[in-house]
Amino acid sequence: MTFDSIATATVPIAEHREPAFVHEEQNVAARQRLENYVSTHGRRPNILVILFDDVGWGDFGCYGGGVAVGAPTPNIDRLARDGLLLTSCYSEPSCSPSRASLMTGRLPMRHGLLRPPMYGQPGGLDGEVTLAQLLGDAGYVTQAVGKWHMGENRESQPQHVGFDDFYGFLSVSDMYSEWRDPYFFPEIAYSEERTRWIENQPFNRCFVHAVKGGDTEDVEEVTIPVLSTLDDKWATYSRDFIKRMSGGSQPWFLYHCTRGAHFDNYPLEKYLGASPAKHPYKDTLIELDDIVGRLVETLRETGQLEHTMIFVSSDNGPNMETWPDAAYTPFRCAKGSTWEGGVRVPGVFAWPGMIDADHTTDGLFSFTDMFPTALALAGADAAMPDDRFIDGVDQSSFLLAPEGRSNRKYQYYWLQNQFSAVRVGEYKLMLASISDDDRDVQSLGGFEGVAQRYPYGRLYNLYLDPKETRSYLVRKLAYIDSFTSGIRDHFKTFGKYPPRHPITR
Ligand code: CA
Repeated sequence: MTFDSIATATVPIAEHREPAFVHEEQNVAARQRLENYVSTHGRRPNILVILFDDVGWGDFGCYGGGVAVGAPTPNIDRLARDGLLLTSCYSEPSCSPSRASLMTGRLPMRHGLLRPPMYGQPGGLDGEVTLAQLLGDAGYVTQAVGKWHMGENRESQPQHVGFDDFYGFLSVSDMYSEWRDPYFFPEIAYSEERTRWIENQPFNRCFVHAVKGGDTEDVEEVTIPVLSTLDDKWATYSRDFIKRMSGGSQPWFLYHCTRGAHFDNYPLEKYLGASPAKHPYKDTLIELDDIVGRLVETLRETGQLEHTMIFVSSDNGPNMETWPDAAYTPFRCAKGSTWEGGVRVPGVFAWPGMIDADHTTDGLFSFTDMFPTALALAGADAAMPDDRFIDGVDQSSFLLAPEGRSNRKYQYYWLQNQFSAVRVGEYKLMLASISDDDRDVQSLGGFEGVAQRYPYGRLYNLYLDPKETRSYLVRKLAYIDSFTSGIRDHFKTFGKYPPRHPITR
């Protein structure tokens, strides 16, 4: 019999862990592959995460975008051909919740970052156990470069939550630029009083450098001309790190987060008009694709490509409130929402010789899965905390086994502190969502829509109806138990491990 994700039960792992599918043969194949690697090379793999900002599922050529949407992405497409392309990779609805879920293996209701903190607002990673911390404990050199946005407060800064070194900014692109731009903010840019008022708000206007345990040092104030050079500078910093690590005995974790392509995009001069679309968002994508090419080339030149697992993704869907400075998704709605357009993001894994080339899969992968998966590859799974619930599922066999299948059964969608939906197989049951107009599949999204609750739920078949426009519930009641039991088990975990925020029902 072939495996079926709706008809197959998961296996409990521990009280504090999300249950998962166990594929026995796949586990054996993956374990053998990893053990062979470790014994042949006497080391664990490097882990390189390249995380874009607000880039959409449909932007890259390998996802049907690229040339078709005015910005070819040959480097990312090549990486996807050389590795594994996920069609169902899930972030959270916005930046900080997604990033913290990747870094902790926990959903926002548990790590507490339900929305991005802006202009010095409180909130951050402090109190969480991070991937960087556990990889560091396992002997990895840990480097964060670029956008942070998991708390500006000292205790949440990268050098205090496990990173050996950090070079980047602590918040998000628009916060440094929007009030300086006379086109978007004339009433501030042309007013000395208001400019001073903004400058006195409690956020650092500079990008910074920091070393583990120390304070941040300002590198440069992020004016608009500086902003346009950040991705180039940060790519150079990461390339230098990769070069420095070559020949060393320690494995490393490089968490490289780009400024682009978050609004507002001011491309580096050499990329102005470089895309067929000639639009700043698309020009920025050309630069980001070039940067992926540069990082991969540096790995190759230094003999580290075969020793590095690469993951390229984006932290949420398009921000349609800033269109046309916005990504492309073929799915419904946008950033801020739990429609597929908000949370279904590109996800490409590559590790030559270890992850089979040319494999596309619709298996579910959540950002929370990165935490246990990376720890498994590092041989550090035993270090995972057991005093808190871990939503992530170890997907190492999904990645490493030939034609691997996902270990995740349920994808849970949360709209801040309101439970929104669950996906299993090709079906998604939605109980609450954000939307301004059901008929408008290109809707402005996301952040501006009204909250809706569906007393009976709405059921979408994501294969027949990827834009989620036609509820299928009345025809498909036979599936109801598989959804409600998944939701019930998920809610039980909050009984034993209370959430950081009260749940809205
Ligand atoms: Ca984002």
